[in-house]
Amino acid sequence: MTAPHTTSSPVDILILGGGFAGLNTAFQLSNYPWTRPVRITLVDRNERFLFTPMAYEILTGEVEVWEIAPLYRDILGNRPVQFVQGNIERIDLDKRQVQVGDATYTYDYLVVALGGRPNFRQVPGADRYSQPFYDLSHVLTYQKHIAQVLDRAKQTGDPKTRKALLNFLVVGAGTCGVEVSCKLADYLAEQARVRGLDRTEIEIHLIDRNERILRGVAHRLEPMALDALHRRRVNLVLDWGVTKVTPEGVEIRCDKQGTIKQIAAATVTWTGGIEMYPLLANLPVEKDPHGRLCVTQQLEVSSRPGVYALGDATHFPTDDGKGLPATAQVAVRQSEIAAWNIRADIEGWAKLPYIYIGLGEMITLGIGEAGADAFGMCIGGTLGAALRRAIYLTKLPTIGLKVRVGGTWAREITKSLLATGERALDAMRQAAAQAPSGQAA
Ligand SMILES: Cc1cc2nc3c(=O)[nH]c(=O)nc-3n(C[C@H](O)[C@H](O)[C@H](O)COP(=O)(O)OP(=O)(O)OC[C@H]3O[C@@H](n4cnc5c(N)ncnc54)[C@H](O)[C@@H]3O)c2cc1C
Repeated sequence: MTAPHTTSSPVDILILGGGFAGLNTAFQLSNYPWTRPVRITLVDRNERFLFTPMAYEILTGEVEVWEIAPLYRDILGNRPVQFVQGNIERIDLDKRQVQVGDATYTYDYLVVALGGRPNFRQVPGADRYSQPFYDLSHVLTYQKHIAQVLDRAKQTGDPKTRKALLNFLVVGAGTCGVEVSCKLADYLAEQARVRGLDRTEIEIHLIDRNERILRGVAHRLEPMALDALHRRRVNLVLDWGVTKVTPEGVEIRCDKQGTIKQIAAATVTWTGGIEMYPLLANLPVEKDPHGRLCVTQQLEVSSRPGVYALGDATHFPTDDGKGLPATAQVAVRQSEIAAWNIRADIEGWAKLPYIYIGLGEMITLGIGEAGADAFGMCIGGTLGAALRRAIYLTKLPTIGLKVRVGGTWAREITKSLLATGERALDAMRQAAAQAPSGQAA
């Protein structure tokens, strides 16, 4: 046993961060039939959990906020978990204390699951003038911003201003940038139609300093993603790096000689990956060059008994030394192991190592369209969208929520499947019509 506690006093388990890793740890811990009293506390600054893989659908209005961003209060329900909404200001590993706002919490076991924050990559002005797409508040702000620029574009008589207002830049062509671009294209088409704006005036540019999209993640879906972007007339600006963001647009380095060009745009969407919170930088424990906390195979922070770390904020040991991808599937699976190991620690049982198994990749490629690389196959189009929606339905945090959204989502899934069926029939009819008459007979 590694943490000091007596059998009569409750064991205090403090979970920092209510994202995929932290929330699922709380679920796991609260499901166990404990042989001694435990007190589980979950802390997050937000009042809602966000199912990030479907954040794009909030932007487009395909889902409502409550469907994928339920209140912690609701999803925790009657579980024996105390939820504290507050900002974690300081973690003192020596005193085993965490400061949340004005309150101080002590712990026997600590789970650090704080994720990361948007990485503006030290590009001047990016934090002030771009629109990050990372949490719920970002998505809702982005939606309002788009409505405003479209309304202004409709009203202005100045062609130069109008062009800038209808110029949408997405910086970062990783999965998030590709997904945002596809959804944005479909959403803008719809919003332009509603306002009587000409869609062909709207430009979307997806910019990345790398030469390829998706940065090696979901690489089997790259051809599908390129096709989806092309059909939506998203202009790919690859091998060019944004060097500055201003209220007027961006400055961009457009060749190896460092030639700088200005692009006027009222909307610069930032999807440049994540960086660690300064809160973690101050912790006196081993970190990787990205500031992620180094953990053991058992997800413990070395030389800090009773402290576990998981999800995006950690560097898990891998053969190539790079750690694991920052994904929800890693965070969720790690939470199961971390919860088990805390229980094993308390009960004096053997702990388990976390073993990474990639379960496939899914990306949305616009409204009603997605790519899924799963079960050894790449599935796209409306069928991909149906598969993605069906899989995500099973991943929502509680059975109650699954039941509440199940009806609407089942209709969406059926609609996608019917559209796929109709398309397949059309293709068969066309093939039959084009076949030589002898064969057709
Ligand atoms: C738009 C988007 C789409 C994504 N799509 C996918 C996908 O399709 N598939 C996939 O596998 N992954 C996807 N991801 C990645 C996935 O969301 C992350 O890998 C996952 O959320 C990591 O879980 P986590 O618990 O480590 O961190 P998070 O989920 O980020 O949770 C961290 C929590 O800590 C809280 N927090 C942080 N600091 C403080 C503080 N000081 N005080 C209080 N609370 C704090 C935050 O509010 C947050 O709730 C996507 C991410 C984004 C942004």
